[in-house]
Amino acid sequence: MQSHTVRILVAALAVCHLEAAPARLTIVGAQIADGSGGPLRAANVHIADGRITSVDRRGPASGDVLIDGKGRVLAPGFIDIHNHSASELSANPAAETQIAQGITTVVLGPDGGSPWPIGEYLAERRRTPTAVNVAVMVGHATVRRLVMGDDFRRAASADEVQRMADLVEQGMREGAVGLSSGLEYEVGSYSETSEVVELAKAAARHGGIYMSHIRDEADKSFDALREAIEIGERAHIPVQISHIKLGTVSVWRRAAEAAALIDAARKRGVDVTADCYPYDAWSSTITVLVPDKRYDYPPSVDKALADVGGAANVLIVNAPAHREYENRTLEAIARDQNTTPTAVFIQIVKDGGAGVIGKSMVDEDIRTFYRQPWTMVASDGGVGARHPRGAGTFPRVLGRYVREQQWLSLPEAIRKMTSAPAARLKLAGRGRIAPGAIADLVLFDPKTIVDRSTFDAPFELPTGIEKVWVRGELVWDAGRAQAAHSGVVLTTGTRSE
Ligand SMILES: [Zn+2]
Repeated sequence: MQSHTVRILVAALAVCHLEAAPARLTIVGAQIADGSGGPLRAANVHIADGRITSVDRRGPASGDVLIDGKGRVLAPGFIDIHNHSASELSANPAAETQIAQGITTVVLGPDGGSPWPIGEYLAERRRTPTAVNVAVMVGHATVRRLVMGDDFRRAASADEVQRMADLVEQGMREGAVGLSSGLEYEVGSYSETSEVVELAKAAARHGGIYMSHIRDEADKSFDALREAIEIGERAHIPVQISHIKLGTVSVWRRAAEAAALIDAARKRGVDVTADCYPYDAWSSTITVLVPDKRYDYPPSVDKALADVGGAANVLIVNAPAHREYENRTLEAIARDQNTTPTAVFIQIVKDGGAGVIGKSMVDEDIRTFYRQPWTMVASDGGVGARHPRGAGTFPRVLGRYVREQQWLSLPEAIRKMTSAPAARLKLAGRGRIAPGAIADLVLFDPKTIVDRSTFDAPFELPTGIEKVWVRGELVWDAGRAQAAHSGVVLTTGTRSE
């Protein structure tokens, strides 16, 4: 009886699988952006059993499922090398806001915080697959807390560093693709450079990279960049600067200098790359503007407002005690009341605070970074992220920076979203449209693709992404997530699973 039930179940699963994944598929008539950065070309892409079998002018064989790609661009699935969906994927395996952007692979555990143990997390992802492929980093802060507990507000001893390095090795053996750090954040900020170097060496021994939210993205950005480069140099490990940024007025318009610093390191053999998200603003509570937390001390508030380029760059979006301030800048409110922005700030905090949007970067710096060949596109978002980058990053780059402002060409933007991160993480078979590659693919309309998510409506899905396949299975079609959860776990050098 029991075995009969099992047999029926197995048969039913097999049928489901067949329905979800046609054995053979041909996409005809699309312009191919193959991930290399080379020019678009018209070709038909043939897929069998989850892999691309050929890219040519042949028509579909009889029995193939046929997809008409006319007027569309077909690209490799986007690989988001900085994604914060680790804890959300269990509850939301469809990852709709990610798939809807064309993301087919997410790299989890950035900024120093990762799941732990790595092996257990990856086993869970294998047991309950998601629509996207996942890879994971070992978090520096994660292992630091495991070793130091709550006593982390100090430099680690040699013995503690050794124990952390052992944990990094364990994480790498269990399938992590590198070490991430968040040296600007509470736990990581107490570490000395030498501690991070030792852990990076442990990751390097297993072919991993070092990915860092560097120690400072404001006044001391350049020191922080130099430290990241030094870690790469001393540990002999590739370095990825996360969401590269010049986030305060004293460093605005210095992206060319930052790029020169990285170019010089690359020239002497340090393998440094970066990723960047396409937004010039952050959203948080008004108090984060004042790092020394003296919210009612006018000189501290003055400095805080100067650092974001003035009160005109602080937009009040949610002020329960002052609805009349909403969607106005601090500068405008102060002008109306014949007072100073600092006085308005102090009043708002006293009355319970407010949500604000602050300017973090100037457009010309974002443009300079995106024009560097070593800069990739990444979201720093993820499932449930309340910043519009969580649902908009990739279409935003293609719609606004490629089509509207022509900062970079379409093939080059696609390269930054596909083969560049795939090469960085040595993800074999991904990031390219070529015979033998895994069929993670995105079909989009280059004339309409654009983000729609905003700070007010962060989950609005983009337009223009028409179909997304993961391992040859359709996961997104005509504005809807599909039932297939064909994502797999990726580790360095993964051929396929
Ligand atoms: Zn970060």
